[in-house]
Amino acid sequence: MTDRNPQHMNDFVNATPLSWAHPDASQAFHDPSHVEFRPCPVCSGTRSRAVWSIEDFQFFSDAADVGKRVPVRVVRCQQCHALYLDPCWSAAGFAALFAEAGCSYGSSSGRPAEQRDWLAARGLLDAGRSLLDAGCYDGRFLSALPAGVARLGVDIDAPAIARGQTRDPALTLIHGDFERFDCPRAPDAITMFHVLEHLPRPVAVLRHLRRLAHASTRLVIEVPVLERGMTNDINGFFSVQHMTHFSRASLALALAQGGWQPLETVDMPGYNGCRVLSAPSDEGSQWPNADPGDVGRLHDYLAAWHTAVAAVERRLEPVRDWSRLVLWGAGLHSEFLWQLTTLFDDPSRECLLVDGDPLKHGRRWRGLPVLPPQVLQTVDWTGAGLVISSYGNQPAMLDAAAALGVPAARIITLYESVRRY
Ligand SMILES: [Zn+2]
Repeated sequence: MTDRNPQHMNDFVNATPLSWAHPDASQAFHDPSHVEFRPCPVCSGTRSRAVWSIEDFQFFSDAADVGKRVPVRVVRCQQCHALYLDPCWSAAGFAALFAEAGCSYGSSSGRPAEQRDWLAARGLLDAGRSLLDAGCYDGRFLSALPAGVARLGVDIDAPAIARGQTRDPALTLIHGDFERFDCPRAPDAITMFHVLEHLPRPVAVLRHLRRLAHASTRLVIEVPVLERGMTNDINGFFSVQHMTHFSRASLALALAQGGWQPLETVDMPGYNGCRVLSAPSDEGSQWPNADPGDVGRLHDYLAAWHTAVAAVERRLEPVRDWSRLVLWGAGLHSEFLWQLTTLFDDPSRECLLVDGDPLKHGRRWRGLPVLPPQVLQTVDWTGAGLVISSYGNQPAMLDAAAALGVPAARIITLYESVRRY
């Protein structure tokens, strides 16, 4: 919960009437220029089958002038079984959909010490070597690496690059497109942690990194994989922020297409990350095979995801008796509740929406004004109840709701347990 300026916040709460409102789906629209169809991002095949979709998904708050609704459709390539978003977001679509989320990829893993030790154990941080972090954001990870290594970073987020360069002049940070940026030297190591799955043309990026590399450069890529996609979170493995939903096999195929040959593949303990150390491939490199087992894995995943949605729906049963609904969380998780559950089926029920992020206050989602959580102190809970709409933040929001005087009996959490992944 954010409360950067308590006095300002108290003034704001006192001045904010409780804006009970009815959900209204008419306050956003779809702009066809925000999506584009594409061949398979792994093998360039053009035959695919839809396997999962949501027709009219809204990215964040309502807007009258920017199209923020898109079809979310995951398909399976009939040639290599890769799972990918098709259509995916165009450049204009990406800018419009993610404007409120910041336009940077990844690099927020919060595991710099583990990553540094892993790289050091493989000799990639020896003094005198160079390392390029692709998707470096503001260079924080690079700053945590030994100063004896020439540290370079590239990102599409210009303000983050500028901030990082000011913060740590020892780094060489490049603002550029991953498919065509220039690098002042051929790096000895390249890292890309949880970036590749966000890119519309991952193979083109891998090929560009290969062009920048020398014969003994090592590439470290980490992505989430289908094999470990099971979760009880309704956001699921098919994140709307991911353009490709890799499996171990489709990742190996993408690397091969990009000119890289895996030397070591490890599953990271405790969260969904498959880390692959690769070298530039040569004539004798073995071409990996698509894995037909990925199709069965896809259905196992979908079965688990439906079980997760069913569990959430059952926890929402008491809401049917509430005349008023308070929802905490104005992010993508609430959009999933809108799309997948009965929570907003009754148009006569009044709703109140709160969120701890001050940047969301004053905006609306699905017709509901976003208010600061402090307004919960003024709610009459007779006939009203609170649904906590978040996976990872559920425990913190539950504590915060209690601290704001929401009676425990009027709070519904949606998850029996929350795992970090
Ligand atoms: Zn394919």
